[in-house]
This record gives sequence, C-alpha cells and structure tokens, in this order.
Amino acid sequence: MSFPSDAASTRVRYAVLGHPVAHSQSPFIHAAFAQQTGEPVDYGRIDCGPDGFIAAVQAFAASGAGGCNITVPFKFVAIGLARQVTERARLAGAANILRFDADGWLADNTDGAGLLRDITQHAGFDPKGRRVLLIGAGGAGSGVLGPLLKARPRQLITPVNRTAPRAHDLVAGHADLAAANGVDLQSAALEQPGQAYDLVINASASSLQAGGVPVPATVLATGSLAIDLMYGAAAQGFLDWARDHGAQGRDGLGMLVEQAAEAFEIWRGVRPDTVPVLQALRRQLAAA
Ligand code: NAP
Repeated sequence: MSFPSDAASTRVRYAVLGHPVAHSQSPFIHAAFAQQTGEPVDYGRIDCGPDGFIAAVQAFAASGAGGCNITVPFKFVAIGLARQVTERARLAGAANILRFDADGWLADNTDGAGLLRDITQHAGFDPKGRRVLLIGAGGAGSGVLGPLLKARPRQLITPVNRTAPRAHDLVAGHADLAAANGVDLQSAALEQPGQAYDLVINASASSLQAGGVPVPATVLATGSLAIDLMYGAAAQGFLDWARDHGAQGRDGLGMLVEQAAEAFEIWRGVRPDTVPVLQALRRQLAAA
C-alpha cells in the first residue's frame, strides 16, 4: 500500500480506517472542522479489508500522516499498537483514535466523551441521579461506559448479549470506577433488562444489522431519552419505536460529530464549534 508523500504539501493527512468505511461521515465532518478553524487537514477513508488493518495503519503512518480514527472491527486491535494509552482507552480496552507522534503512537477513545457531550449539551439531559440502560458490549459500548459512570447516574444496567462474557468482563473492569462515583452498576440478561429507565442507549449493532430493537418497550419510562448510536435510515426503526412508546428518540449523529471534535482537538490542539457542523450534516443526510 502506498500513499502520496507529504513533502510537496503543507497539509497533514488523517483518515478513518476500518472495514467497511464507505458509509463513514467522518471525512465530511473533519473537512468542515478544517475549513472552520483554518487547520491544514486532509481527511480520507481507508478500507483495510477484513485482515489488513495493521499493515494499512503502519503504511499510513510511515507515509507521514498525522493520525487516524479506527472503526469497526479494529478498535480492540488498535489499542495494542500504541506506546501511550489514555486512561479512558485503557478502561474501554479499545481505541477509536491514534496520533502518530514521532516518539511513538498515542491511543485514545473519544466515543464516551462524544456521547456525553451530545446527551448533555444537545439533548439537554443530565444523567446525574438517573437510571440508565446500556445495550451492547462491543467497541462502542466499551468506550461509553466509563464516561457514563463519571456522569454519576444512580443506577447503570448493561445487559449481557449474545456473547455474555464480554459484558461481564466490561462490568467487572468498571466496578471500581462505579463504586468511586456512587453508581449501582449491574449486568442483566438482554431478555430481562428491567423497566422504566430515564435514559436508554443502544450501543449494539442491532440497527446496523437491521435486527430490530433488542429490548422490550417496557425499558422506557414516559418521557425518557432513547439514543441509538446508529444514524441515517438504519436508525429510523429505533426512533419510531421510541416515539411510539412515549420516549424522545435520538440518533447517533450528535455523538459522531462530538467524538470527532474531541479527536480533532487531540490532533490539532484546536476545539471546533460542533453546532453548525451537526446542522450541515443533518441537512446533507436529509437531502441524500
Ligand atoms: P461492535 O464492536 O461490532 O459491537 C457490536 C455489539 O452489538 C456487540 O456487543 C454485539 O454483541 C451486539 N449486537 C450485534 N447485533 C446485535 C443484535 N441484533 N442484537 C443485540 N446485540 C447485537 O460494534 P461497535 O463498534 O460497538 O458499534 C455498535 C454500533 O454503534 C454500530 O451501529 C456503530 O455504527 C455505532 N457507533 C456509532 C458511533 C457514533 O459516533 N455515533 C460511534 C461508534 C459506534 P456480541 O458481542 O454478542 O456480538
């Protein structure tokens, strides 16, 4: 794999690496951040195929790139490639961003910070003292659990899914953080997730795989906030389900833009304004 050299350009290259990546909106978001801030950023997509992540990321870094985002299914592999790992990435066991520093790579996880900013700033919901249900124990579920605990909900239930040990490990690994923040953290069966939560987060790939909502509607308290991390047409079934059962439905676009802003700041040291970028992205997807 080869990439154009940076020698002839003053722009710094970044990309999202994964398989697949064709659907990713990250190039649009980072182009908008670059234009807004005047930072010399070029951002693309690299499909690594099912087994090509390590070779692709090493070649991209060797070509002079500044860093990358990592998406499905490589977040758990990416963290092992870094010399320095942030506390929130270590807790998640997964990284969604690498920065290619000259003395070694930095791995971080911005998914949880992005979700919390979307929930608190865009949706106006404060998780403190509330009851939260988190569905899914994959890369996204792992990344958001730590930041959710730090928001000090009263209770946080994360249901086990098809791969039960994954969810149990996640809960066990976060037990100290939960205790330190006074949160009652428990796992539950996907079929018996409990009832009437103030905040329901679908961090599973059920919408991506058109698998329907994996929990009964009794998990929703009247007026609760129900977020699917998916966005676009694939999230519509979840949004309809939330509305039909008296909840406020929300898709994952706000989180996507906020986790990208966090990444942009890690790479460039500048925090972009997310509000106009989220509006532009919603307009673009609605017109597509
Ligand atoms: P992942 O690592 O592949 O994990 C998928 C998780 O979903 C696993 O826990 C899996 O269970 C579970 N799952 C898959 N199909 C299911 C179904 N039909 N019913 C119940 N559980 C199911 O994927 P990920 O990276 O966590 O991503 C999950 C979703 O979040 C995707 O839709 C992705 O696009 C979205 N996402 C959005 C953002 C954003 O910024 N908005 C960021 C990250 C991810 P098993 O362990 O049993 O396989």
